[in-house]
Amino acid sequence: MYVFDFSTADGTDRDLLGGKGAGLATMTALGLPVPPGFTLSTEACRRYLVDGDVPADLWNEVRAARERLEAVTGRSLGANDGPPLLLSVRSGGKFSMPGMMDTVLNLGINEKVIGPLAEWADNEHFAWDAYRRFVQTYGKVVLRADGGRFENILTELRSTRGVDDDAALTADDLEQVTRRFQRIITDSGRKIPENPVDQLHSAIAAVFSSWTNRRAREYRRINQIDDNLGTACTVQMMVFGDLGDDSGTGVCFTRDPATGETGSYGDYLPNAQGEDVVAGIRNTLDLEDLAGRHPEHHAQLLDVMRTLEQHYSDMCDIEFTIERERLWILQTRVGKRTAQAAVQIAVDMADEGMIDRATALLRVEPTSLDVMLHPRIADGLDIEPLTVGLDASPGAASGVAVFSAGRAVEMSETGVDVVLVRWETNPDDIHGLAVAEGVLTSHGGKTSHAAVIARGMGKAAVTGAAEIDVQEAEGRFTVGIVSISEGDIITIDGSTGRVFVGELPLVDPDPSPELETLLEWADEVRRLGVRANADDGAGAAVARRWGAEGIGLARTEHMFLGHRLPIVRSIILNQDTRQALDDLVDIQTDDFTDLLEAMDGLPVIVRLLDPPLHEFLPDRISLLLERRNHPASSDTIELDRWIDAVTRLEETNPMMGLRGVRLGVIRPELYRAQVRAAMEATLRRLDAGGDPKIEIMIPLVSHESEFTHVLDIVNQEIEASAVEIDIPVGTMIEVPRAALQASALAVHADFFSFGTNDLTQMTYGISRDDAERAFLDQYVTEGVLPSNPFTHIDEVGVGRLVEIATRDGKVVRPDLEVGVCGEHGGDPKSIAFFHRVGLNYVSCSPPRVPTARLAAAQAALGKTFD
Ligand code: ADP
Ligand code: MG
Ligand code: MG
Repeated sequence: MYVFDFSTADGTDRDLLGGKGAGLATMTALGLPVPPGFTLSTEACRRYLVDGDVPADLWNEVRAARERLEAVTGRSLGANDGPPLLLSVRSGGKFSMPGMMDTVLNLGINEKVIGPLAEWADNEHFAWDAYRRFVQTYGKVVLRADGGRFENILTELRSTRGVDDDAALTADDLEQVTRRFQRIITDSGRKIPENPVDQLHSAIAAVFSSWTNRRAREYRRINQIDDNLGTACTVQMMVFGDLGDDSGTGVCFTRDPATGETGSYGDYLPNAQGEDVVAGIRNTLDLEDLAGRHPEHHAQLLDVMRTLEQHYSDMCDIEFTIERERLWILQTRVGKRTAQAAVQIAVDMADEGMIDRATALLRVEPTSLDVMLHPRIADGLDIEPLTVGLDASPGAASGVAVFSAGRAVEMSETGVDVVLVRWETNPDDIHGLAVAEGVLTSHGGKTSHAAVIARGMGKAAVTGAAEIDVQEAEGRFTVGIVSISEGDIITIDGSTGRVFVGELPLVDPDPSPELETLLEWADEVRRLGVRANADDGAGAAVARRWGAEGIGLARTEHMFLGHRLPIVRSIILNQDTRQALDDLVDIQTDDFTDLLEAMDGLPVIVRLLDPPLHEFLPDRISLLLERRNHPASSDTIELDRWIDAVTRLEETNPMMGLRGVRLGVIRPELYRAQVRAAMEATLRRLDAGGDPKIEIMIPLVSHESEFTHVLDIVNQEIEASAVEIDIPVGTMIEVPRAALQASALAVHADFFSFGTNDLTQMTYGISRDDAERAFLDQYVTEGVLPSNPFTHIDEVGVGRLVEIATRDGKVVRPDLEVGVCGEHGGDPKSIAFFHRVGLNYVSCSPPRVPTARLAAAQAALGKTFD
């Protein structure tokens, strides 16, 4: 069976009936005024798409359903005695794909029906407009005529008549237009069938085919909807909102879809058919105006809204039409909403007792919270972006364009907001990034330096904006013929990658009380802890405000950059090491003190230096160029020493070179200095009456004895200090060997933290930046990989290592604390995995903390991902 009457269909079966068909069946069962009709199932569509023809029995079933419909309505299709039955033939899949597929309205009109229709309506204008609309959509949707030609004819006629609305054309005009439309169709060798049953069959086939049109395919790709679902097709008696001023049509929501406020919200258009509302041709009225014009219908509509909201226990979106003082409901579905509205509605409905708290928690998409926490461009602006790059770090920022870190600092010191524009940034730019509102680069991916640092700092970043030509020396960038110079204001939107000329109004994130409430409910059900990755006191303070329960990763190398770079360089060059190390201790002590103060009473995990030393050195090529311009002299001794060091430290594959714990083994004085700073900071905080809980973490360990070797060094420094409290020392697990040797490591390590970025790189044997630039996208689009393993953890490979190491480690040491500090710690799907394998906490960037809290709660509530 492929055909189901609204009055008998199972309104819960969206798979079979599509969202629209299911909604119409449900509303019919609830006794709401729905024009009668029937739905052809998605199964019929799937058969049609596979076999190239409808299933054998389909037309018989359609005939039987049509006869039932004629009996119920007392009208018949193609009748020229009495009011004719006109039909809408509507598309609608399981998931709403607004406007992507086709619908034919007013089906059933022909040369014989037009007269009786005009008579029934007592309105010639209406009848010809209905015919005109039918010819236009049938021509376009079923016969694939060029819709633009129809539009042109209408536009031309409106301008000849000096009117701006079709309603102001005469019945004669509309008849002429209909005839011209028909000629366009016959000129192309096609014809609209006179027989309404033929019209119906061809319209059904066209609706099924519209599942595979380009728009629809593209929409499904973007929204990850399965291509094999197919659309249902709903055939329904037409009702008319365009019979005069006593009629009209509209769309309403049971709560405000933008803000979530309770109270209905909607648009109404008098004397119009449904499509006119969305097409935005005329300005609509709001529901208050409807109350003024049709008080009873307004009241009836409010009743319908209450019924539907109660039934679905969710905010609904409703299409309605008033036909000559009679209200009809044409569609309903659970309404789409902004992140802010989703939170507000979930919390309100739980408070109202309509849903329980678990349902409320599961209603909000965790990643959508991100958007609520960054400044964003105000809604409702209709401005074209200058160009679009990668959405590298969310949030929006306005400021004057500057082209070097130095200028960024100078300009910002005078109190102006700046946006740093670079070809690509490198560690030398860190001080510029620190003062900028945001950063824009023409090169680099989402993991480029600029992107990573900006995300860490919670600043907006657009990277890889390839259309931009950055001319740093000239202090300008160009996009085509547009040129932006230093001092010109630009706005970037790191949530979408858009770049605008000029200053756009930004709105601040407002942590609404409802969001706070929802997150408190999340805290009650989640088992995973949530910490943040933050490198300074400011970041830690933000993280704490959003509910972070400690720092899972403080990267100390960022503290080495900016104006501190010379100190680090002189340590690397082995000049004057003692003085430089002392300076380093002083500086890091301040940094650690800030962190401990912001996170007083909560754990702060400090990771000792990780990156290869050459990252702190100048570029070798520029040094060599400089050297070429200077003949040997006493002035160049220094330069030569640099060249020498850079050459010595240069590595073929730095990712696998002298970094992490290996630095601790080869250059122990660096790690010693860092531990001294950590102890010094602890003492300071204790003196100040604080409750510092610092923990030391060794990166990139692969062998047990690498860890014990460095552990000795670390412990010596701890013991040499005046610190009496216990300082846990743990290891990162980011090399597969370490995961497999977890039992051995757990004997010595107080905690584990999975660095899943490196662990993914090392497990796959690919370097992330190179892979994302060269082939990873293609891998994912061609289905070679199900998803980017740096976005969602690869559960069966990398995840398996996490699982093994967690289990083995906890066997040796049941109280071993195990967390994750890679970017996966902020990804809901990965968080669900970490919950399942028994980790203690996840750690993510500060603005991701709310997302992680909610995702951890959803994991505990058993949310599944497909
Ligand atoms: P979409 O999924 O794109 O919204 P619909 O199938 O809902 O497409 O139809 C497009 C428009 O036609 C809507 O505004 C709808 O309200 C209107 N419409 C559909 N069926 C009928 C009907 N039986 N009577 C009056 N208007 C209808
Ligand atoms: Mg619709
Ligand atoms: Mg790492």
